Amino acid sequence: MQSIRVVCAHDCPDMCSLLAHVEDGKVVRVQGDPDHPFTAGFACAKVNRDAELVHSPERLTTPLRRTGAKGRGEFKPIGWDEALDEIATRWKAIIAEEGPLAILGYAYSAHQGLINRGLPSGLFHALGTSRLQAGTVCDTCCEEAWNAVAGPVGSADPESVVHSDLVISWGADLVATNVHFWAMAEQERKKRGLKIVCIDPRRSRTAQGADWHLPIRIGTDAALALGLMHILVRDGKADRDYLARRTLGFDKVESSVLPRFAPARVAEITGIPVVDIERLAAMYGNAKAALLRLGEGMTRLTHGGQALRTVALLPGVSGHYAKPGGGALLMTAASCDLNYAAVRRPSGPATTRMVNHLRLGEALLSMSGPRLRALYVSANNPAITCPDVGKVRRGLAREDLFTVVHDPFMTATARYADIVLPSTTYLETEDLFRAYGAYWMQWGQRAVAPQGEARSNADVARALAKRMGLTDAVFSKSEREIAQMLFVGATGPASRATPERLFAAEHISIAHDRPDGQPFSTPSGKLEFDSQTLRDQGLPSLPDWTPDPVEAEEAPRYPLRLLTAPGYFQPHTAFSGVGFLRKREGAPIAILHPEDARARRLTDGDRVRLYNDRGSVGLVLKVSDEVQPGVVLVPGQRPDEEAVSGTVNMLCSDRYTDLGEGATYQSTWLEIAPWQAAA
Ligand code: SF4
Repeated sequence: MQSIRVVCAHDCPDMCSLLAHVEDGKVVRVQGDPDHPFTAGFACAKVNRDAELVHSPERLTTPLRRTGAKGRGEFKPIGWDEALDEIATRWKAIIAEEGPLAILGYAYSAHQGLINRGLPSGLFHALGTSRLQAGTVCDTCCEEAWNAVAGPVGSADPESVVHSDLVISWGADLVATNVHFWAMAEQERKKRGLKIVCIDPRRSRTAQGADWHLPIRIGTDAALALGLMHILVRDGKADRDYLARRTLGFDKVESSVLPRFAPARVAEITGIPVVDIERLAAMYGNAKAALLRLGEGMTRLTHGGQALRTVALLPGVSGHYAKPGGGALLMTAASCDLNYAAVRRPSGPATTRMVNHLRLGEALLSMSGPRLRALYVSANNPAITCPDVGKVRRGLAREDLFTVVHDPFMTATARYADIVLPSTTYLETEDLFRAYGAYWMQWGQRAVAPQGEARSNADVARALAKRMGLTDAVFSKSEREIAQMLFVGATGPASRATPERLFAAEHISIAHDRPDGQPFSTPSGKLEFDSQTLRDQGLPSLPDWTPDPVEAEEAPRYPLRLLTAPGYFQPHTAFSGVGFLRKREGAPIAILHPEDARARRLTDGDRVRLYNDRGSVGLVLKVSDEVQPGVVLVPGQRPDEEAVSGTVNMLCSDRYTDLGEGATYQSTWLEIAPWQAAA
């Protein structure tokens, strides 16, 4: 048996180094790599089953051409040459008739490293097509919010937790989404008595494992952060020296915002009792090095940007940003300066028409001048993951739209395709990886040959570039050569990586020395409480909290608020092809508080209908006080065929967040009734 060092590509902040044990050309087991300093020899429960992902009987093995109606999933196998020739012929005809803007490249990140993610984007850049404003379903809101206060720079190193005496997991379920940071924090708790506090609307596994859980009302994080600042100032715990040296505009916040956030009002807004707000402020103010783990959950609603921005300002008041083990951990990738443009923007127009990732439905149905005539989807499943999925599916069903989907599995989106191409998983390709929640970089080796006739994203991008007559050098390079291009002109710790070290599968630390604590790369070079950048965009320049305007509109008709979170075994559809994990997760459920269930005469295990103006979804009910009254939790994004009916994003609107034009999944109101009522 051979053990090959690979890198987990499941779009997760930890970026585990893994060992794939291979026998007779098959992955028999995937396990954590014991030699990696951060991911430390264990993988999460999902990826421990990745041998079954690679060799799943549900994998696509050949290219397919549609034979039935769009959405029905009726196809017949065809050869690669036939498939690629047809794609190139159709694209050339569309470009000749309407220009390249009539084509949309919709390639994202599932199962991919930097090369397999970047090269399809490079293809569409070079062709001059409409391009994807990527990541708005995911992290653009929190990124913009962080940039507004700290600038485009990596946040704290998770490994600095060895110096922390308090960790606050704020809007993050670490056990599900950042398990190695959780493990390190737990270890420090055992060793040194580090305290872990969890602020989350639900009693997640992280909340259960924390020393203290504060169940906050959804959408009120900014109010709590301002309340804590109010108390820090009132009690003389604000670090005046740090505020004067390293921050901008706190005086305005202190005089015009904080007086409105006294503990009694904050308690009313957040649902957290005054005594707990006071206790939390004292804990935070007295901590020597408090580390906030900022979760993206708090950003997926109308005022999500203000929420994250305000919480991220808190360590500026206490001065924790200056301390090793203090500050805030969000994302780290902005401090990894590689030559991404070499792959993603080889040639083609600098600007083009952009399509917001979350508004695919709108673009397919309404975009004109020219109308979208062709769509290429890879590493993405918008027919499940986009908000207002009904609109996406209506767009995908257009008979005059030529759609290609490249994926390892027959996804809900692939069912609408004219041509489906079988994709490799990360275990069948080589790629370069850098973590976005830690400071590590690594070369992922190929463990086994592509299954069936599967081809990697990079390989297909190269093949299509050739057929489309593109001559950019990057499209004729191997993965290793492309990796070397990424390092041309790289700066900072990332530039320490050399091809020899990378291709030897060494773990390469790209952590920065930060003698002055968290650096800031805002226009002022300081942590900005008052942001001219936001003012220039017509946005509030100071942090604040105001109610969610959608609530006033929708809550009178639909009394329950949706909360979504990753499922522990099925966070999204990338793991749908593993039967064992589907079984572990169970049927798609909706979790409702006992009071709300009683009021509707619903009991545990009932089939229920969740509905609002946008649609209706059938799920199995779980009655539990892990959620607060008035909230419905739906874990994971699951395909229709696993549910009673539909998928949860049918209920969500495609409205934007206040920053970053992100998705507002949690600004969704709905009602629940017995499923039979729908019938
Ligand atoms: S914890 Fe994250 S990086 Fe590690 S194996 Fe699981 S999904 Fe992959």
